[in-house]
Amino acid sequence: MAIPEHADYVIIGAGIHGLSTSWRLAQRLIEKGEEVDGRIVVLDKSGIAAGASGIACGVVRNNYYQPAMRRLMAHSVDIWESDPEGLSYHPVGYMQISCEAMREDVQTIYEQQQEIGYESVFIEGSNASTNYMRGMFEDWQAKNITSVLHEKRGGYSNNTKSMYGLTSKVEKLGVRIITGIEVKGFGFETTSNAVTKVETDKGEITCEQVIVGAGPWVRDFWDMLGLPKQITVKDLNGEIHNDVDMWRYWQLEEGVLTVPPETLLTDDGKMPPVIHVDTDAPLYSDVDGSVIAEEMWGIYYKPDWHFGGVQGGASPYKVDTPVDEVAVDPYGPSSPEFVSSPEFAHMWVSALAHCHKRFEGAMPKYHREASGGIGCFTPDSFPVFDTFNDNVFIIADSNHGWKMLGVGHLVADEVLGKEQELLQPFRFNRFEKGELHPVSNSPYPWS
Ligand SMILES: Cc1cc2nc3c(=O)[nH]c(=O)nc-3n(C[C@H](O)[C@H](O)[C@H](O)COP(=O)(O)OP(=O)(O)OC[C@H]3O[C@@H](n4cnc5c(N)ncnc54)[C@H](O)[C@@H]3O)c2cc1C
Repeated sequence: MAIPEHADYVIIGAGIHGLSTSWRLAQRLIEKGEEVDGRIVVLDKSGIAAGASGIACGVVRNNYYQPAMRRLMAHSVDIWESDPEGLSYHPVGYMQISCEAMREDVQTIYEQQQEIGYESVFIEGSNASTNYMRGMFEDWQAKNITSVLHEKRGGYSNNTKSMYGLTSKVEKLGVRIITGIEVKGFGFETTSNAVTKVETDKGEITCEQVIVGAGPWVRDFWDMLGLPKQITVKDLNGEIHNDVDMWRYWQLEEGVLTVPPETLLTDDGKMPPVIHVDTDAPLYSDVDGSVIAEEMWGIYYKPDWHFGGVQGGASPYKVDTPVDEVAVDPYGPSSPEFVSSPEFAHMWVSALAHCHKRFEGAMPKYHREASGGIGCFTPDSFPVFDTFNDNVFIIADSNHGWKMLGVGHLVADEVLGKEQELLQPFRFNRFEKGELHPVSNSPYPWS
């Protein structure tokens, strides 16, 4: 297929962010009575949903300790709710079930959710939490739980199905998606840093604006734009850290228990919310009784017909390889290096059994296929949404991104000239200015 010589807006990456940005850009051009055809192209070196968006567990939640993240998520949930069927979205809600070390943090989240009108219920106390959970699952048995935050909105969506739904929306609006085309570099204006053309393995495309939604490959685009590999970070105590790597990789561990998804319906036969448990109760192997964890651990899970079982994950682990040497390709389950480990399977299934009697003895049902994948994280593990080189908008979501369907919409509006207040807390200069997001007591790098 011939590639265009020019497109006003070149979007790199046919993942959730690239397609979401193209969606709102096209809508806005149409609202202004302008042509879309030929003006917006999305380029992907592989295909639609070839990156993290094609393997994400798909959880959509508001539960974040950081106010700016919560406001952003509430905005994204509005977009998911705008077309649940077309986006393959299941608005089943979400539960954060926590031990005492997290209770106060989660209470703050609950209070601020009430302030922004995000519907949720907060249960406190050991007995009240157990009773609340047993009202849903009579075999609930998780230990050391002293609070339950039940978000009535949010839920999950079905990675590739949602992505194809999104594709159909944007193609109908006139967006052109070109797959099997790899961006290799950029051509720059001589008098400024602005990008004038995108260089690909199929030829050059001149452009007015570039949007990079490259997920785990963001490191490579950062290099192509000549941005700093190491940066200065002022931490929350005002301490300056020089030469901090801009990027690092974490392995996100997920898997599937191949039981009928109905196994996890509530006692009255309804779809349960997505369940997320963090506790400091010792975790024992469901296989041989050995101790797996004595410190805080966490898991999340849901019945999922798309994955064909009970699907979920646990805390990720840091990839030790120096950042420049991490092999992102082949990505996800095709990676020879970065897939969920047998230790993860052992821990996750044992944790399911810790929470529900029905999962005791379920280890043989753990699927055998490779799953999981790596993600590229910023120094504070929160997103960077910002303009670089005058006309390149980078969406680097630090792996919060599946749920952030609305970010592309905000980016489109910003690119069209309207600065977006919701994106402000995620500018690159926050590292230098010390305007970092608050840190919670969760065992995850992203909550
Ligand atoms: C195992 C796992 C589970 C996750 N679960 C969740 C979850 O439950 N909820 C949640 O909110 N988030 C989740 N995430 C995070 C979420 O998936 C990502 O944040 C999000 O999908 C990133 O979207 P993206 O559009 O930026 O990138 P991607 O979906 O990775 O898309 C990037 C695209 O860029 C293309 N590309 C790369 N380099 C080039 C190039 N040189 N030229 C052209 N194209 C290129 C790739 O082929 C790819 O298709 C999970 C991530 C992983 C790995």
